[in-house]
Amino acid sequence: MVRYVYDFSEGGREQSGLLGGKGANLAEMARMGLPVPPGFTVTTEACRVFLETGAPPPELDDEIAEHLERLERASGRRLGQVDDPLLLSVRSGARFSMPGMMETILDIGLNDYAVMGLAKVPERERFAWDSYRRLVQMFGTTVMGVDGALFEGVLRRIERQHHAADDAHLDAVDLIRTVETFKDLVRERTGEDFPQDPHEQLRRAVLAVFGSWNAERARLYRRREHIPDDLGTAVNIQTMVFGNLGSDSGSGVAFTRDPATGRPGVYGDYLPNAQGEDVVSGTRDAVPLEDLRRLDPESYEELCGHLRRLEEHYRDLCDIEFTIERGRLWMLQTRVGKRTAQAAFGIAGQLVDEGLISLDEALARVGGEGLARLMFPRFDTSGAGEPLARGVPASPGAAVGAAVFDSAEAVRRAAAGERVVLVRPETTPDDLPGMVAAQAVLTSRGGKTSHAAVVARGMGRVCVCGADALSVDVQGRRFTVGDVTVAEGETLSVDGSEGLVFPGAVPLVDSVVMRYFENGGRRPGPDDEQVVRDVHRLMERADALRRLEVRANADTPEDAERARRFGARGIGLCRTEHMFLGERRRYVEAMILAGGAEEREAALAELLPLQRADFTGILAAMDGLPVTIRLLDPPLHEFLPDHTELAVRVARAEASGRAPDPRDGELLAAVERMREQNPMLGLRGVRLGLVVPGLVAMQVRAVAEAVVERVRAGGDPRAQIMVPLVGAVTELHLVREEVERVLARVSEETGVRVECPVGTMIELPRAALTAGRIARDADFFSFGTNDLTQTTWGFSRDDVEAEFFPAYLERGVFDVSPFETLDREGVGRLVELAVSEGREVRPELEVGVCGEHGGDPESVRFFHSVDLDYVSCSPFRVPVARLEAGRATLSGAEATDTR
Ligand code: PEP
Ligand code: MG
Repeated sequence: MVRYVYDFSEGGREQSGLLGGKGANLAEMARMGLPVPPGFTVTTEACRVFLETGAPPPELDDEIAEHLERLERASGRRLGQVDDPLLLSVRSGARFSMPGMMETILDIGLNDYAVMGLAKVPERERFAWDSYRRLVQMFGTTVMGVDGALFEGVLRRIERQHHAADDAHLDAVDLIRTVETFKDLVRERTGEDFPQDPHEQLRRAVLAVFGSWNAERARLYRRREHIPDDLGTAVNIQTMVFGNLGSDSGSGVAFTRDPATGRPGVYGDYLPNAQGEDVVSGTRDAVPLEDLRRLDPESYEELCGHLRRLEEHYRDLCDIEFTIERGRLWMLQTRVGKRTAQAAFGIAGQLVDEGLISLDEALARVGGEGLARLMFPRFDTSGAGEPLARGVPASPGAAVGAAVFDSAEAVRRAAAGERVVLVRPETTPDDLPGMVAAQAVLTSRGGKTSHAAVVARGMGRVCVCGADALSVDVQGRRFTVGDVTVAEGETLSVDGSEGLVFPGAVPLVDSVVMRYFENGGRRPGPDDEQVVRDVHRLMERADALRRLEVRANADTPEDAERARRFGARGIGLCRTEHMFLGERRRYVEAMILAGGAEEREAALAELLPLQRADFTGILAAMDGLPVTIRLLDPPLHEFLPDHTELAVRVARAEASGRAPDPRDGELLAAVERMREQNPMLGLRGVRLGLVVPGLVAMQVRAVAEAVVERVRAGGDPRAQIMVPLVGAVTELHLVREEVERVLARVSEETGVRVECPVGTMIELPRAALTAGRIARDADFFSFGTNDLTQTTWGFSRDDVEAEFFPAYLERGVFDVSPFETLDREGVGRLVELAVSEGREVRPELEVGVCGEHGGDPESVRFFHSVDLDYVSCSPFRVPVARLEAGRATLSGAEATDTR
């Protein structure tokens, strides 16, 4: 029988799919004997039934009732009882953490009677009415759909009438009035009374949490984090404990290590006499957790003990939320904490040193995207002068952008291509679209664990929070620091690693990790920064493990050299079209305009030595390693002047009575002749080679002569010739014959035997589907997954990402662009098929990939799984591909879900 409710004592951390992350970890802490307020979890499965059918499973009410009864028996208190009632919190908790994106309802169980019971103890009177006020407000907005601003309006009015600075200054009598006014508001807006039956409150709260899975901000967050839309959330129902019962109470958050840098120690914030939301929302400034040692040494010691145990148990950085209720410590939540890229590498290394995890586990816990982030530049603040403000370095990196003061403006400007810094007093989940759009987030309040910090860290945005010198005027769209005012649109530089804000644009310097790779990834010494040592160690391990070779896409000797320093073992794609641009354009034009064979050959002869020099340089930079040179791919008209420009020039001349330049006229005619509706599907790739006489021969001769030159210079050139856009084996066969003829001729002329493997790109579905035949004429395959994605989906790679991908992502057609991460189900199947049919015919066939996917972490893991020989990517992605190729070899045992 399917069960939909589990007591905390029944589950464990391995059940996060069913119980959600929060529920599974609460169960784990209960299992470890840590002080967890008792409760139970409604499963994600129940939520999925609700999302699919619009109603909860029929058994759910009874199951909740049964668990509630057990909870009541154990605690000796009943929900809704007049004297000392049991109060519950109802919190969402999905498999992957979605901080603040879904609903929470606290103080369930209070009604007009129970509140009196709670208020009986005189010193609790204010607290009781404040709790009831919070419940009506939270329930009214979340469950009954009343606009939250209306409650806030009432509260502000009452505060004004009583000359109170904020709600903390309202007394019990004021709060009784507030509750009554809130209840009137609910009745007026919904036509029903605030429900007095605590069981009804509980039932409706659970359904509201289920429903909040599909709230706009939750959907947006999932899309960003690639969290599937069909997981649903669990709901945790837990006995309330109170951190706002006086100075011997409080709430806080703690990390077992610094989530920004990875430094060991106990980090966190504590807010005396407050509930957890006050800490997380950043509305009141917390004190460092260290202060708890002085305020409540016993709880502090106990907490530190729990943190140590949790970290040893989870063998990873944990973050926790806790509450102290009248001197008694309660653990409200734990999870493996989100961290910055720097901390991820640092912590992984430390845990290996401490003997808690193996080096392979450490490798599983870092990722290519994090490594790429560490390679971004940092600010050179040497000439920047005094910072405008200092705050908490909550999420590292350097960002420059125009100040904006609300989410909508951030989104608007970013859509127009502007880089922006979102400045807020504090952020709420409603600011998420703006945080996604911004380069950096800057707040005047809140600590390392505020919403802004947690969310920014999770998505790799630069963040400085708690810059309390800032006085942010959202309405006026500006902030002031002392006598300096920064208005909307003015440029700011935000240093999330140091917690500094500078006016204007501060120049950038390379990161130390980038410098390490630029220096060839040599073993770091004791003077090198820790992060470099952490990276080196894991790169070394990844290199030792990986089976995939990593090559680079490079078209110049400089790029080839950099790629080699970054660890590339050859060039997987040298695009030759860049070699037809600039000064050389006139030769290409001459070739196209040639009246006969003689003129064409003359033009090609001009190009030959230039191409040869290009190849010689690249072969020298990659001496001893394979260099895959692709024959010309784009349609020739790309090398001619723009049609409109030419047409205007000719028309202008004619209008002024002058004869147009005859060359312009010829060019215009050629451009018009060659114009295509769909150039990507037109005369390009191998098709060009077959219809433009002499083109293949010139390129191959340039390669062959470059090889000869390198051999004569004592080098070890390993050129390979690659034919693009092949769809039929005959195309390849014809080109191959020509290639071999030219190689033979150059060998004969020079006396140096030139042998280059000849292979093809597989970038059309037809090529993949007939790979067995194509392999007969190919020494190697290289998947051009950019074109293969374009042609498999029928998506124009130049248009669709801006045109309608946002709508497709929004509507869940896919959760990441197939141009970014390989579409395993479609394009991936073609890759698999072509690999297996190609190797069947030619077992020694070398198979790689050179589309953009070659540098994408998830795609690299796929290419490993289908047994490619190598991936090829841009030089800057080479370290990412090496790391991911190593990680791909790890079994599930080492892999952890780090989302
Ligand atoms: C490809 O199509 O994946 C490829 C590498 O070629 P290009 O991007 O040059 O078309
Ligand atoms: Mg291509």
